Amino acid sequence: MTEIVARTIEKLQKNKMEAYYVETAAEALEKIKELCPEGSLVASGGSATLAQIGAVDLFRSGKYDYADRYAPDANMAVEARRAFNADVYFLSANAITENGELYNVDGTGNRVAALTFGPKSVIVVAGVNKIVPDMAAAVERVENIAAPLNAQRLNKKTPCAATGKCHHCSSPDRICCVYHTAAQQREAGRIKVILVNESLGF
Ligand code: SF4
Repeated sequence: MTEIVARTIEKLQKNKMEAYYVETAAEALEKIKELCPEGSLVASGGSATLAQIGAVDLFRSGKYDYADRYAPDANMAVEARRAFNADVYFLSANAITENGELYNVDGTGNRVAALTFGPKSVIVVAGVNKIVPDMAAAVERVENIAAPLNAQRLNKKTPCAATGKCHHCSSPDRICCVYHTAAQQREAGRIKVILVNESLGF
């Protein structure tokens, strides 16, 4: 573990989040199984990381009651609202500061809403590539890495999808509508962060 990762874990814990470090995506999946009992009602925010490590496949395996907004026969609005009663809500983070803050920017806001309140437990899975020195770097990371790549992934017609940089647009397709920082928590341990020593997601 690098000094930066160790410092980030220490600060996440200081902010009353549980923090775990694993070397690989496979180990992250094992940690998820350990923290999330089978049969739990689980839900997840849109995340390339969760898909990449096989977590979404695990949620769909039948071992969990998965509020799956993207299932072929799903009622998206119903599943999205069911997520707020989840036993465990999963997401990644757009950036994690070395000061132990989680920074996320949403379009609809359902992901950061569930991160904030509702689900009993929240598990954030993130590659070490998401760690940044401070909030200014977190904002820059979203504007010039995460959001442009997500806009491309979602086939949005935003200027960042074309140029790879934020233009602070007014596009109808804009994906940056809700800006959220999770700092020191009131309920200790509700948010758990699994840091993976790999480059994952955007
Ligand atoms: S504000 Fe617009 S241009 Fe900037 S990152 Fe978000 S969607 Fe892209």
